[in-house]
Amino acid sequence: MRITDVRATTVTMPLRAPLRHSNGAHWGRFVRTLVEVETDNGLIGLGEMGGGGQSAEAAITGLRDYLVGHDPARTEALRFMLANPTASLYNNRTQLLAAIEFACLDLQGQHLGVPVHDLLGGRVRDQVEFASYLFFRYPGADGGGEVRTAEQLVEHAGRLREKYGFTTHKLKGGVFSPEYELQCYRALAEAFPQDRFRYDPNGALSVEEGIRFARAIEDLPNDFLEDPTFGLNGLRRVRENTSLPIATNTVVVNFEQLATNVRDPAVDVILLDTTFWGGIRPCVKAAGVCETFQLGVAVHSSGELGVQLATMLHMGAVVPNLTFAADAHYHHLQDDVIQGGKLAYQGGAIEVPSGPGLGVSLDRDKVAEYAELYRELGNYPYDRDPGRPNWYPLLPNFDYADPSTPGTTWNEARIS
Ligand SMILES: [Mg+2]
Repeated sequence: MRITDVRATTVTMPLRAPLRHSNGAHWGRFVRTLVEVETDNGLIGLGEMGGGGQSAEAAITGLRDYLVGHDPARTEALRFMLANPTASLYNNRTQLLAAIEFACLDLQGQHLGVPVHDLLGGRVRDQVEFASYLFFRYPGADGGGEVRTAEQLVEHAGRLREKYGFTTHKLKGGVFSPEYELQCYRALAEAFPQDRFRYDPNGALSVEEGIRFARAIEDLPNDFLEDPTFGLNGLRRVRENTSLPIATNTVVVNFEQLATNVRDPAVDVILLDTTFWGGIRPCVKAAGVCETFQLGVAVHSSGELGVQLATMLHMGAVVPNLTFAADAHYHHLQDDVIQGGKLAYQGGAIEVPSGPGLGVSLDRDKVAEYAELYRELGNYPYDRDPGRPNWYPLLPNFDYADPSTPGTTWNEARIS
């Protein structure tokens, strides 16, 4: 089997409402680029990456000369071909490599008639549990869906809990002041006393605020406190001053940083991301290092459609030491581009696909529909807040949004 072509298509997927975070917002939609790698035996392997448009599509198709003629079974060779560590100083292709690696694993699985998890050691679980992933939100296109107050947050979490069965709740913070978000977080824990919780302000707090926040929630059933402050040294200082496990998806995202964290621990739990780490295989490898050194493993979400979600499910299926519910933005999506529509949650979990390869295939009509929506709406700046056009955060942040101001509707995406 040899690669004959690579294609990329950018799509825009509407969300129920814009999701606010410490750097800005997802403006009512996700922009994702779908990758298709074709082989000489007529198979098509699927990949996915964040962002989009001409630059993302050109970055992927610009790898055509590297990929044509390559055997997709040689994934380890692919790593050095596209992202040799010293060459990467000049071209930093980790996230491109990830999208191509997904497609190559999909091709291997389809070729052999086995699911990707069978190529990675075989599954140790049939389904992967997910957290609710709660965001403060601006109102959606219809004026509904806002999450700004503790009451709205608890109501939103309750609806998700009922609909999807989540029993772990992650609050994305760093939008309002830590004092205000502390009240919101405690209100959640009070409303669902049998559930588990985690808070992630994306590194927005100072070390001292991070320590204050940690100590103020130590009595709650927390899984961990995620990136309370930015940087390994800041996280280490928070960790030294609280009984809470500290987690990161921002500053342990490669093997060099993982080794540093083993030698001089700053965090207890590593959130693995199949895109940030350059593919599913490096995540499984990193999980092995974590198993050896008894670090916790969780799953990070960078905003996925069904193809990327499948990579998270296959990874989650084969990692024995995945002891935390995974993150996914998936339930915020209005639709998906895979055949059969959105994968279903049952009891807060999603079944690991069992078909050959990644086990998902594209619905061509949906791809065309959402590619058209991308052309209509274009990109959005993830690191700008549509409600605060002249603002950008410092790290640590000190200029938070005002929770007493009702949000304006910023959702430009039509809701189908
Ligand atoms: Mg995070």
